[in-house]
Amino acid sequence: MSLDGAYDHDNIFARILRGEMPSARVFEDDHVYAFMDAFPLGRGHTLVIPKHSTARNLLEEAPETLAPLILGVQRVARAMRAALTPDGVMIFQTNGEAAGQTVFHLHFHLVPRWDGEPPLGRHGGGKMADMEELKALAAQIAAKIT
Ligand code: 5GP
Repeated sequence: MSLDGAYDHDNIFARILRGEMPSARVFEDDHVYAFMDAFPLGRGHTLVIPKHSTARNLLEEAPETLAPLILGVQRVARAMRAALTPDGVMIFQTNGEAAGQTVFHLHFHLVPRWDGEPPLGRHGGGKMADMEELKALAAQIAAKIT
């Protein structure tokens, strides 16, 4: 899907937000929902999405939604740091298929990184993680939300 197009109300993240699909929740408030990526690039890979939005990407998002979203990203990144003590946190975001986007509901990726790890491969190509392991990681990060 290119940068242009209509929002699909049945995309996987919309379905997660409606509770139609399971997810390992890390955090939510009135504006954002954070949960573990099911095909993680590494241990602790978390996604942060706006709850009330039909923006497919960053370019489409309204400023009033973007502001609490990025604050949510920072909040989860801080909790991730406290919980998992990584040496770095990679935060990235894709817009359009050409940029690697596969789910067309705006989202930020947060990936903890440790010294000495090999460079990240292409995301979304890994194997599906075990839901119980994801839930345990989510609980670890959630415990450090301030
Ligand atoms: P994108 O490729 O659009 O930047 O990122 C979409 C992300 O959603 C990928 O990292 C992929 O692993 C993740 N993902 C795809 N399907 C699901 C799912 O059903 N549940 C969860 N938690 N993550 C998913």
